[in-house]
Amino acid sequence: EVIFRTEDITKVYDTGEVKVYALAGVSLELYAGELAVLLGPSGSGKSTLLNILGGLDHVTDGRVWFRDLELTDLNDRGLTRFRRDHVGFVFQFYNLVPSLTAQENVQLVTDVAPDPMPAAEALDLVGLGHRLDHFPSEMSGGEQQRVAIARAIAKRPEVLLCDEPTGALDSKTGVQVLEVLKTINDQFGTTTAVITHNAAIQQMAHRVIQFQDGKINEVHVNETRIAPH
Ligand code: ADP
Ligand code: ADP
Repeated sequence: EVIFRTEDITKVYDTGEVKVYALAGVSLELYAGELAVLLGPSGSGKSTLLNILGGLDHVTDGRVWFRDLELTDLNDRGLTRFRRDHVGFVFQFYNLVPSLTAQENVQLVTDVAPDPMPAAEALDLVGLGHRLDHFPSEMSGGEQQRVAIARAIAKRPEVLLCDEPTGALDSKTGVQVLEVLKTINDQFGTTTAVITHNAAIQQMAHRVIQFQDGKINEVHVNETRIAPH
């Protein structure tokens, strides 16, 4: 079952002097329930694609669908609604509110979502059931990122988009964060796309999608993981 489809999308940044083709013709399908990793050198277009899939950015050309919903038909209000209803985001920096506890940070989302899981349950899922009343300053980087993941999953999104969630962490802590993402993918079937340079992801992912110069130059299927399709 295809959840995302892009058809020959381009994204051009026109800086006045030069045109940068951040994406130069990308056609891709993501399958419902899969865990896909986006790999490739810095500047190869990974973040741009993730932002377009998540409705945070517009294409220059081409079309994008989320199931039957054509994202490239939506205005900003439609994209905001799409994000709110379907997508959880995790970024390199955790963006927690420093004056709120872990539980209160997650409650910012659960208080407004239509069918959230309890904040304590979300934090338990990421291994922080014992840290509910801790403030961000009292937690390690890996713990703060797990709070950010709990916040992202608490509204039960169908899709989780993670842009360098391990970028600020040492590699061992990064593996723990990736294991949390894999557990969520296994347990809830949340379609997950992750940008990370941490090599541990390659064993966890169903597919490895390799970027080069704004294009996909290779897709590797991990035969050791039974993939949704
Ligand atoms: P990656 O995630 O693989 O590092 P990006 O998608 O961030 O790559 O960037 C792809 C290309 O687009 C790079 O050349 C980058 O400099 C350029 N780019 C990204 N965002 C902008 C922007 N807002 N303005 C101009 N160029 C940009
Ligand atoms: P809105 O248009 O509803 O204000 P935003 O564009 O501010 O929506 O963000 C949509 C979602 O993506 C929110 O959950 C927001 O927290 C998240 N988001 C967007 N950009 C970033 C970012 N750079 N860092 C952290 N979260 C972000």
